[in-house]
Amino acid sequence: VIWLGQAEHSVITTCAYCGVGCSFKAEMKGNEVVRMVPWKDGKANEGHSCVKGRFAWGYATHKDRITKPMIRASIDDPWQEVSWEVAIGHAASEFRRLQTKYGKDSIGGITSSRCTNEETYLVQKLIRAAFGNNNVDTCARVCHSPTGYGLGATLGTSAGTQTFKSVEQADVIMVIGANPTDGHPVFASRMKKRLRQGAKLIIVDPRKIELVNSAHIKADYHLPLRPGTNVAMITALAHTIVTEGLVNEAYVAERCDPKSFNEWREFVAKPENSPEAMEAATGVPAADVRAAARLYATGGNAAIYYGLGVTEHSQGSTMVIGIANLAMATGNVGREGVGVNPLRGQNNVQGSCDMGSFPHELPGYRHISDSIVRGQFEEAWGVTLEPEPGLRIPNMFEAALDGSFKGLYCEGEDIVQSDPNTQHVAAAMRSMECVVVQDIFLNETAKYAHVFLPGSSFLEKDGTFTNAERRISRVRKVMPPLPGLADWEVTCKLSEALGYPMPYKNAEEIMDEIAALTPTFSGVSYKKIEEMGGSVQWPCNESAPNGTPTMHIGKFVKGKGKFIITQYVPTEEKVTRKFPLLLTTGRILSQYNVGAQTRRTPNNEWHSEDRLEIHPHDAEDRGIKNDDWVGITSRAGETVLRAVVSERMQPGVVYTTFHFPESGANVITTDSSDWATNCPEYKVTAVQVLPVMQP
Ligand code: SF4
Repeated sequence: VIWLGQAEHSVITTCAYCGVGCSFKAEMKGNEVVRMVPWKDGKANEGHSCVKGRFAWGYATHKDRITKPMIRASIDDPWQEVSWEVAIGHAASEFRRLQTKYGKDSIGGITSSRCTNEETYLVQKLIRAAFGNNNVDTCARVCHSPTGYGLGATLGTSAGTQTFKSVEQADVIMVIGANPTDGHPVFASRMKKRLRQGAKLIIVDPRKIELVNSAHIKADYHLPLRPGTNVAMITALAHTIVTEGLVNEAYVAERCDPKSFNEWREFVAKPENSPEAMEAATGVPAADVRAAARLYATGGNAAIYYGLGVTEHSQGSTMVIGIANLAMATGNVGREGVGVNPLRGQNNVQGSCDMGSFPHELPGYRHISDSIVRGQFEEAWGVTLEPEPGLRIPNMFEAALDGSFKGLYCEGEDIVQSDPNTQHVAAAMRSMECVVVQDIFLNETAKYAHVFLPGSSFLEKDGTFTNAERRISRVRKVMPPLPGLADWEVTCKLSEALGYPMPYKNAEEIMDEIAALTPTFSGVSYKKIEEMGGSVQWPCNESAPNGTPTMHIGKFVKGKGKFIITQYVPTEEKVTRKFPLLLTTGRILSQYNVGAQTRRTPNNEWHSEDRLEIHPHDAEDRGIKNDDWVGITSRAGETVLRAVVSERMQPGVVYTTFHFPESGANVITTDSSDWATNCPEYKVTAVQVLPVMQP
């Protein structure tokens, strides 16, 4: 515990890390944080916290913080500190030069879930109004974009259906492709409490995650499928429910579109979709799949919680659709204790999607081609907007390598470390003529930047984050921004330098504009958030003035719930003699994503390197022992890690985390991605693992 003495005052704010969105009381002495205390009245956490939110905030004042703007002529030159005016003026004139030389669409921007709703809204506004194109994307591209697609297409809105509290009413909990103990610890505690009270548990995951068999909890069924076979599994579960007469016919008749349901029923009932037929693909005994399906369909309130093990596949969107199909067919959407619940990785993934940071959507998930919606924004912003969707992040990289994309504004995302196939990303970055990075550290992406604009940590921000249960919570400034300007002010100044002033006085004014232009947010204001005790769940509007804890009560947002066929298509990333193992990736409790924050805190002492988990049989075959150095080679690249020989793995599958740039997990991952959203297939990479000398 970091103890800096007695506090003089405190400020309530929201954790900078995962999608649980815990509320904390920052206890202060002057401008210095004394400690972070989980806030007992925080609705997402009710006074609980984990080792990240509680202890890993010291990065905010770490010596590596860059607080002065910098520029350089080329990425091989040293950085030069300059004034804000010079840095922003240089970025703006470079962006305009590139547009004059290469065309309006030759530049774009990326925002992040590290940004507040207000900051994200401004970035997409800057791109659409000042850049004059729709080349804006967010890091949700690489995590939960399939959630947006799949839940939007079936249920009608791109968000989870429940509050976290709802798990207390669940009788059956199915966790698919998520490891809440490490990824969402405070929610995991809530879930475990319900499990200790007797709720049943089904785990669908290639690894024996902690929930499978821990001190007080034992899963009723663990379906340890082969990576890449999620859709085979969900279709086999659906087959059982349909062919064994377990569909909730009354619910489906009342709530769902009959044509799509009948087509889906006919499809999943086919013998080739049975658990027996799918066993060769999934590797899971058909009897276990059938038993788990029966439990899910007949065990009372059944809730599904899922994570990136669902979305980060070539069929990520199909799998999200499959989960929604299963929940609708069994009547498990639209009340407490049930639902379809994506566990969002970052604190503001939900918000960054809500705010219109995808190239095809304006705030509130409205397609850019909708002329009525576009007209509302055009009138409010005083510009003409392009009706065609812009480039997604992977398209930006491709266009950069083609020579048609030349300039990037990147706020709060370390794309060079976090995106797959690092070599490909680095080559794209190198080919651009003006890269502007706005961040708190000189991260991996900044190595390719020409302008560095110093950003602010969560302790210096004013605004809101939206967690995985659609809860909009206030983020309050605990200390002044170290660089002198808040992130939203930097974006406004860049916009002004580009000739499109955005003269906001504060973050609250930005939220008021969001509410005025976005029907699901029309009742949201800082005043409303205060009145509601510090947070409110969207939709919050005339029909739901105090927000919406549970969605789809009575009817789906879409009207009738739509079933969509989930044809299993094996991934192209196949094992071969050269690459005989499948690598999958995940996180560990003490570290967070690319580690830029947690690596600069005492949490680093608990877990100071990424390691490769390997099953004892695979280790023995290769002469690998615990702590040995191993080389991991894939079609994309190679890296070296130390091994952990572990029964948690199934034979043929290896696993690592991706918190350290030097480990280079994404040097190995490939360009393969989800068919609908381009979310990378991080969870399936064919590799070879062999012992090597210590590097
Ligand atoms: Fe809560 Fe997540 Fe922060 Fe941990 S990391 S304190 S669970 S929001």
